[in-house]
Amino acid sequence: MGTGEVTLIGGGPGAADLMTVRARDALAVADVVFYDRLAPTDGLREWAPAAELYDVGKRPGHHRITQENIQQRMVAAALDGRRVVRLKGGDPFVFGRGSEEVAACREAGIPVTVVPGISSAIAVPAAAGIPVTARNVSKSFTVISGHDPLSERELAGLAALGGTAVILMGVGTLGHTMAGLQRQGMMSDTPVGVVEHGFTEDQRVLIAPLAEMLGVAAAARLRSPAVLIIGDVVRLAAADPCSGEASSDSDSSPGAAGERVIRAMAGAVL
Ligand code: SAH
Repeated sequence: MGTGEVTLIGGGPGAADLMTVRARDALAVADVVFYDRLAPTDGLREWAPAAELYDVGKRPGHHRITQENIQQRMVAAALDGRRVVRLKGGDPFVFGRGSEEVAACREAGIPVTVVPGISSAIAVPAAAGIPVTARNVSKSFTVISGHDPLSERELAGLAALGGTAVILMGVGTLGHTMAGLQRQGMMSDTPVGVVEHGFTEDQRVLIAPLAEMLGVAAAARLRSPAVLIIGDVVRLAAADPCSGEASSDSDSSPGAAGERVIRAMAGAVL
């Protein structure tokens, strides 16, 4: 049997119907699928009826499968002549280590194709009605990994840049980021939005000024995955976000059970 192939798919931010047609076509003929935690997986059996399915998701703090191990398994399956799909959350080239997987395949002489996906960096803010740019409000957006604490230099750059900052993997470093941006001169009343579990039934939206977001997030027991949005576009957040079970309650106190939109913008027009 000849060499197989690898298709690296971006599955979008979690909702099955936000996957592309091209992604579904590749799944339909897959022999093996290695999938991640944040990719849409509920329908995987149906979408890839002939495939062996392997959960290789790396949960925060539980790295039971290493990146090297995933790559070795993908390469081995493709060398065995199989059509391999690597299904990742969002877009494979946005903090997804997709480029490393492409490189591993190329080194082994395996044909590899990349199917882009809808990135949570843009889509998850939109789930809360937050546009990453808006005319006369923000003409840029910067997407940053919050996996490791931002350096003073990075914080200073971000505070000076203006526009919108979008931070992924930023729950663990939230306190450091909020304090650091203020220390570097960002106004303490800059609006911050956090969208947790975007496009799921558990979606929640927190909105608070920079100075208050840490307290609001702690009271609400914010959990990963969540996308942080910092900047004036957050004021455009929909009162009734376009997905999830969201409902707006502007008098709510942060953290009350079952709330889907938590706002703490004292005196702000939202
Ligand atoms: N490649 C992915 C990002 C991988 S990093 C993409 O393009 O979307 C993982 C981070 O993405 C999470 O920590 C979180 O910040 C964000 N994320 C992905 N899906 C999300 C979702 N449904 N809701 C909220 N955040 C999400």
